[in-house]
Amino acid sequence: MEKFGKVDEYLSVRGIKPSYQRIKVFDYLIRYRNHPTVDTIYKELVGEIPTLSKTTVYNTLKLFHDKGIVLVINIEDNETRFDADVSNHGHFKCIKCGEIYDFRLEAENLNLPDLSDFKIDEQHIYLKGTCPKCE
Ligand SMILES: [Zn+2]
Ligand SMILES: [Zn+2]
Repeated sequence: MEKFGKVDEYLSVRGIKPSYQRIKVFDYLIRYRNHPTVDTIYKELVGEIPTLSKTTVYNTLKLFHDKGIVLVINIEDNETRFDADVSNHGHFKCIKCGEIYDFRLEAENLNLPDLSDFKIDEQHIYLKGTCPKCE
């Protein structure tokens, strides 16, 4: 968690006005690291912030994505998840419990001869299977 420092400062230096709701949404992402959906964040925070709406959560995450501080994870067509860890890493989704696990990924080690003339801006590696807990 240290690498994010104080959330309000982390947002400010990236040009995001640190409103209370934005701080709470980002704080949720780095506290739980559970790759939540908009719905999950909304349900977890609305008790504490009764004025919160799903639209606000969505717009906040969209802003964070535009500013490059969250990753959008689309392992499933019908579910979008978010991650405040924007370092290079892949995601493994367990088809039994639905949990998403991070795994380290070294982009330099990816051997992609067919793309040698292409400039890669983003990489998303998604794997699905069964986690050790469910095996
Ligand atoms: Zn599992
Ligand atoms: Zn992740």
